[in-house]
Amino acid sequence: MPARGNPLSPEELERKCAEIRRKQLAGYSGKDFQRFRRMTLATLTRKIKDLQADLATAEADLACEPQRFKVSLREYDSLHAEAAEKLNLVEHELKHVRRLLAASIANDQRTALESRLGRLTSKHAELSGALVTPASRKNSILERIEVTRARIEVLGRFLPAAEKRQRIVALAAAHSGSARAIAGSIRAQLDISPFCPYCGEPLLGKGHADHIYPVAHGGLSTPRNMVYICATCNQRKADMTLRQFVRKFSLDSDRIELELTRLGKRF
Ligand SMILES: [Zn+2]
Repeated sequence: MPARGNPLSPEELERKCAEIRRKQLAGYSGKDFQRFRRMTLATLTRKIKDLQADLATAEADLACEPQRFKVSLREYDSLHAEAAEKLNLVEHELKHVRRLLAASIANDQRTALESRLGRLTSKHAELSGALVTPASRKNSILERIEVTRARIEVLGRFLPAAEKRQRIVALAAAHSGSARAIAGSIRAQLDISPFCPYCGEPLLGKGHADHIYPVAHGGLSTPRNMVYICATCNQRKADMTLRQFVRKFSLDSDRIELELTRLGKRF
């Protein structure tokens, strides 16, 4: 603990700043990233705007705080020194009066000394209070600077994360929307062959349209990249490439390639 009425020592201040920083950064957690994941594009865009405004305010604050601090620092330091000097004098005088009172003196003198002691004691309390104010103001400015710094650091991490999420959501929306729309119209143009080109099971006119090179990897919805397959193969292949699918389920790649070529597919 710092002595009453004294500004924090550099070590104490450093400890205090580290604590402020830790608290600020603890407020920023993985939970916020989870929230980003659930946000729609419109909400993310709004959020980014808010974050940018917050960051600009914090940066403007930080830019003028140290200037304000320099002025206040000098003022508070001289107020502190002045109060400390007066306090010293009063303490000195108090000691003197107490010494006099301890000696054997006449009663009329004693009364005068006792009232002087009372005045000095209240003066002492007043001056001790005057010491606290400049020191605590100075410390609070230093803390405020540190809070602003930590806030800028936090926002500096949030903003790119939100922007990245916004890009991903926008891309995914654009891609899945158009890919689905195109795939629908291509599906109508595709012929259903009697057998699943991957496993050879009969399709009986009820195939599932598959992107041979998956949409998830950037595969296009074109007649050459789409083929009707059986439900089992459709479920198993999911987002795998043909090569991954063949390897995973030990399928006959020669026969599959021959069949796809015959159907005019590209793979
Ligand atoms: Zn199949």
